[in-house]
Amino acid sequence: MSNNRILFLFIETSTCYSRCKHCFINGGRKINPIKFEDLKNNLNLFLKFRDKNNDFYSKMASAIYDCSLNYPYLNQLIRFYKCNDIEGWSNIPINGFRLRSKEEWLPYLESLLEAGLIGLIFTLYGLKENHNWFAGRDGDFNNQFKLADLWHEVGVNLSGRCSYIRKI
Ligand code: SF4
Repeated sequence: MSNNRILFLFIETSTCYSRCKHCFINGGRKINPIKFEDLKNNLNLFLKFRDKNNDFYSKMASAIYDCSLNYPYLNQLIRFYKCNDIEGWSNIPINGFRLRSKEEWLPYLESLLEAGLIGLIFTLYGLKENHNWFAGRDGDFNNQFKLADLWHEVGVNLSGRCSYIRKI
């Protein structure tokens, strides 16, 4: 049997502060973040499964989903992924983040860099008015650019994607 399959997990980490119109995962629900030890125990089960079935699954990957920056144990999670060869730790989507002051953001962003994060992925749904409408949050568009500036200030790559969605 070919072993080019990827064991893929979505991790929904935290409450999201956006309310995207298409979201079936998180928007609008309060989620108590899973404790890191509990998450690790669950991931270890999948790791055992991957390693036992290595002739079938050559890789394990995981999307640390949008609103990842709200997860209080994100640094530990990135380190755990790196140590255990789980792909998905290097560039993470960040929409739905909790608003913070610059003083709060900068040390946090630096700690993510230390943990090994390489890039933040920003998603825009068109220009400002359209984006804010679709994301369900006033100011979301500008706040993404403010965060992008801070991320750049700590010296990092930016990546982004833009989907154009219009009201009908
Ligand atoms: S940012 Fe992501 S998780 Fe949050 S509402 Fe939008 S699509 Fe859903």
